[in-house]
Amino acid sequence: TEIVAEYCAKHPESAKYFERANKVMPGGQTRSVTHFEPFPVILTHGKNGHVFDVDGHEYIDVVNNYTSLIHGHTFAPVVSAVNALLEHGGVAFPAVHPHQMRLAEQLVARIHSAELVRFTNSGSEASSLAARIARHVTGRLEIVMAHEGYHGAVPPFSETTEPNVMRVPFNDPIALEAAVSERTAAIILEPFQGAAGVIPASPGYLQHAQQLAERYGALFILDEVQSLRNSYYGVQQDLGITPDLTILGKIIGGGYPIGAVVGKAEHLLQTSPYTAGHLVHSGTFNGHLTSCVAGAATLEYLDAQTIQCLNDRTGKLRAEILEAAADHGIHIRVSIAGSIMNVHPAEKTAHDALYENLHLSLILEGVYAAPRGMLNLSTALDQSHLNAIAQAYRCAFERIAT
Ligand code: PLP
Repeated sequence: TEIVAEYCAKHPESAKYFERANKVMPGGQTRSVTHFEPFPVILTHGKNGHVFDVDGHEYIDVVNNYTSLIHGHTFAPVVSAVNALLEHGGVAFPAVHPHQMRLAEQLVARIHSAELVRFTNSGSEASSLAARIARHVTGRLEIVMAHEGYHGAVPPFSETTEPNVMRVPFNDPIALEAAVSERTAAIILEPFQGAAGVIPASPGYLQHAQQLAERYGALFILDEVQSLRNSYYGVQQDLGITPDLTILGKIIGGGYPIGAVVGKAEHLLQTSPYTAGHLVHSGTFNGHLTSCVAGAATLEYLDAQTIQCLNDRTGKLRAEILEAAADHGIHIRVSIAGSIMNVHPAEKTAHDALYENLHLSLILEGVYAAPRGMLNLSTALDQSHLNAIAQAYRCAFERIAT
């Protein structure tokens, strides 16, 4: 199409770099989700609310490394915390460190179900660990999760063929009830399905899941890797639920790699050396100090009011995107959860073409959004950026319509 031709013409350097990447990295990538056709733009750096590519273009960043950057790139308190750490000497030691304690204390203070914190290097590792803890605690094997639930592409959540993992349709309390039994070690759910297109849990669904887990002596695991950015105390506080374990990641590392399992002491203590028959859980870089200081600085500047403001702005931008699409006769739906949203084609048949054309058009209009329609806001964006994003969607819809 014309859009693809213009995209190619404007990104010759990215095309060259992508060819080079393909010679040493499978598919020229490090992650499945970041690939798109005809080839992805190659980014060089980010500053506040912007990212820059090898072809010299500047974009407003609404991917924020898949919701992990809530203050944008090069947030001054994060930069100074990391610089101070580097100058002081050493970023990882085979010993517990005050910087880890500080971040753990912040999480315990914030999340009411968090009595103890176990750090990992990613949200994926944290969800794997949570499953191990649940199996260890209950002496059972079965994990119940949702179709298209995403807890990382790691066992036991990665393959639909994974043994002892049952998948049920999301937001279907009857299917959930049918799946849970005395063999269930844990039910694991997200407050909204992020990777599946930002689909919020129906009212009462998560409460019901927690009650079911309790009834059958299983653990209830809530994956707040994405949702913590939407709610100061976590979505669990808003919903009045107390998960046995909560998985965290993304923003709690301030842009650096991290994950954590937090929750009831009796469960977390399964990883304590003082517990007889404890679970061995290790990782050379667990609680990496760069991530801990960056995460602590990030959370310090993220109060309830800041989060509310981001969520409100996201709601307003959603309305503007819907209006712009309607003005051009393009049928879309936009799902939302806090400061994250996802644009969906209203008609299933139009899926792939709309996704591709909208995404490439946004890039041409200077907005870096995710290929499958996801966008999220950071505090690095002010009202003028938000106006520019809305205008870019308007122009993108105009391109698609003609
Ligand atoms: N859980 C959820 C809800 C996520 O969105 C993600 C990542 O996108 C993960 C877990 C995995 O986290 P990570 O990518 O840090 O391994």
